[in-house]
Amino acid sequence: MGSVLVVLEVRGGKVRPASMEALGAARTAAELTGGGTVTALATDAAEVDASALGAAGADQVLVANTEQHSSDGAAATAARVAREIGAGAVFLTATIRGRDLLGRIAALLNTGFVPDCIELGAEGGKLHFVRPVFAGKALIRVRINGPVAVASFRPNFFRGAGRSATAAIQKTTAEPGKAVVTGLSGERKGRPDVAEATKIISGGRGMGGPENWHLIEAVADAVPGMATGASRAVVDAGWRPHEEQVGQTGKTVSPELYIAAGISGAIQHLAGMSTSKVIVAINKDKEAPIFQHATYGVVGDVHQVLPKLADELKKASSP
Ligand SMILES: Cc1cc2nc3c(=O)[nH]c(=O)nc-3n(C[C@H](O)[C@H](O)[C@H](O)COP(=O)(O)OP(=O)(O)OC[C@H]3O[C@@H](n4cnc5c(N)ncnc54)[C@H](O)[C@@H]3O)c2cc1C
Repeated sequence: MGSVLVVLEVRGGKVRPASMEALGAARTAAELTGGGTVTALATDAAEVDASALGAAGADQVLVANTEQHSSDGAAATAARVAREIGAGAVFLTATIRGRDLLGRIAALLNTGFVPDCIELGAEGGKLHFVRPVFAGKALIRVRINGPVAVASFRPNFFRGAGRSATAAIQKTTAEPGKAVVTGLSGERKGRPDVAEATKIISGGRGMGGPENWHLIEAVADAVPGMATGASRAVVDAGWRPHEEQVGQTGKTVSPELYIAAGISGAIQHLAGMSTSKVIVAINKDKEAPIFQHATYGVVGDVHQVLPKLADELKKASSP
C-alpha cells in the first residue's frame, strides 16, 4: 500500500490525544498492508515530541509550522506531502478539525474518504474501514477504490502503538491558504474537550435551567478528567456553549462512561453518543427513549439524584 500519512491535530501548541490514536491506527494499517512507513505531519505551530510521536507509531515527523494555518492551507500542505511520500493512506482525527480537512484532502488527491471510522482491517493488501451510519443504528464496511484511502478515526477507539521508538523530525514548507486565520477565540480552559474525554456527564432540558448546572459540575469535579456535555435543546436555549453540544449537529463522543442527566434520548442526540461503552441515564420519565440505550438507568429527579451521585463519586475517588 505504501506509507501512511497522519495529519496531526494541534491545540494550544500540543498534539491532541486523538492524533496519537490515529498514529496507532496508521501503524496497524502499515503492518496489515506490508509494512510501509508512518509519517506524521504538523501543520499548525506545535511542540513536537519525537519520542511520544515515535512511541505512538510515527517513523518520521514533518513540521510545516505556521502560526495560524487555515484549513485550505493545511489541506494543500497535507495533499502535497502525501504525494511526495507516495502515501497509500492519509489518516486524520474524527473531530471538527478533521471534518474540515478530510474532504478537502480527498478532493485534492482525487480520491474518496471515510469519516468517523471505529475499526480498521485489510484484505488482499487493501484497507477497509468500519463506521457507524443512521445515527449509530448500523455499521458499514467501506473500501476506497481511489489511489489513496483518506479516513478519519473517532477518538477513544484506537490506541497509540506503544512502541519504544523515536521519530525523526524534519521541516517542510507550509502551503499558503486562500483563507487566513487571523485569530482564535472561545478556547475553553479547565475541563477536557468533550470529543476526547473518556468520562462525560451531559445535561439536557430536564436540568431546568443554567442555574442548576452546578449539579452537573459537582459530578464532574468528583471524577478526575470528566468533561461536561449538553443536548442541543440546552445549547439552543443559551444555557451552555455550542462546543459542549453532543449529537448530530454537535460533537461525536465515545467515552468509557457517558452520564445523560435530564436528556430524553432523541435520535439526533443518540447519533453523537450511542457508541459510548457505558451509558447511565437519569430521567424522571421511565418511558424516556434514552433508557432503551442505557446500560444503567435511574428513574428520578436530577435535583435529588445528582447530589447523591456526586457525594458517592467523591467518596469513591478519595483515598
Ligand atoms: C437536524 C437536527 C439536528 C439536531 N442535532 C442535535 C444534536 O446534535 N444534539 C442534540 O442533543 N439534539 C439535536 N437535535 C434536537 C433533538 O431532536 C432534541 O430536540 C434534543 O436532543 C432534546 O434535548 P433534551 O433531551 O435535552 O430535551 P427534551 O427532549 O425536552 O428532554 C428533556 C428530558 O428531561 C426529562 N426531565 C425533565 N425534568 C427532569 C428532572 N427534573 N429530572 C430528570 N429528568 C427530567 C424529561 O422527562 C425529558 O425526557 C437536533 C434536531 C434536528 C432536527
